[in-house]
Amino acid sequence: MKIIALANQKGGVGKTTTAVNLAAALAESGHATLVVDLDPQANASSALGVHATEGASIYRVMSGERTLQQQIVQTPWANLLLIPSEPDLAAFDLEVAGYEQRNLMLRNALEPHLSGLNVEYILLDCPPSLGTLMINALVAADSVLIPLQCEYFALEGLGRITGVIERIKGETGHPAQGIEGIVLTMFDIRLNLSQQVRADVIAHFPEKLFESIIPRSIRLGEAPSHGKPITVYDSAGAGATSYRLLATELVKRQSAAAPAPAVAAPAA
Ligand code: ATP
Ligand code: MG
Repeated sequence: MKIIALANQKGGVGKTTTAVNLAAALAESGHATLVVDLDPQANASSALGVHATEGASIYRVMSGERTLQQQIVQTPWANLLLIPSEPDLAAFDLEVAGYEQRNLMLRNALEPHLSGLNVEYILLDCPPSLGTLMINALVAADSVLIPLQCEYFALEGLGRITGVIERIKGETGHPAQGIEGIVLTMFDIRLNLSQQVRADVIAHFPEKLFESIIPRSIRLGEAPSHGKPITVYDSAGAGATSYRLLATELVKRQSAAAPAPAVAAPAA
């Protein structure tokens, strides 16, 4: 099982769109995936057709009121699970301000349940602000996937999020193992700027950039208002295709990184 945080302190860069549609593409190809909506805006929840309801979020597991299993919602789509957000998540920072272990709450909430959980991937959809919720996600995750919008100053933003990841590594001693990868979003092949951002990322993070690129697509923008992932809303379109490619690339990277199975010694 792998826990991946979708994070970028920049707002509106495609974190939620990537969390939901990457999860749907993984699920569709048989990899059971749980999306945890950590954003009080609840965009990931509504994109999967679920309303943010009081008591429904991961916060209740962090506070010990509920078990992880109790919070999991089965979406209408096979292998795709969700822990929705709830409005109270907006008060999380204040709520836990005096609590010394506040940055470890998500990690501590997930850890005891992981072995009993029948999923391959957990995708944590982070809010844009660098608050306690985002830090909790970075501490709990095995790695961070950074959606990067192809725009001016994209690289400065990338420098900031990688700096945050390093700082958390230093401060908490619970390092996110690093950057899973950077995925370019809202890419417009006709724009020099998109090409320039791509070239810059390759120059600075040559091994981190996913080859799969998410194009700017009206359908990707529409799908959330129908409460469906793009793989369902516009299954044959460019958006769905790009997220399927991203899913395949992610899975391939995991199997490349996994230790080779031990070879049985030949019988004497
Ligand atoms: P926030 O920081 O507010 O959580 P975010 O990083 O999660 O934002 P999204 O909500 O995924 O970003 O995307 C921002 C907006 O851009 C949304 O309206 C979304 O539908 C739209 N969008 C995201 N990706 C694409 C795309 N590839 N093509 C067209 N529209 C997109
Ligand atoms: Mg979002």
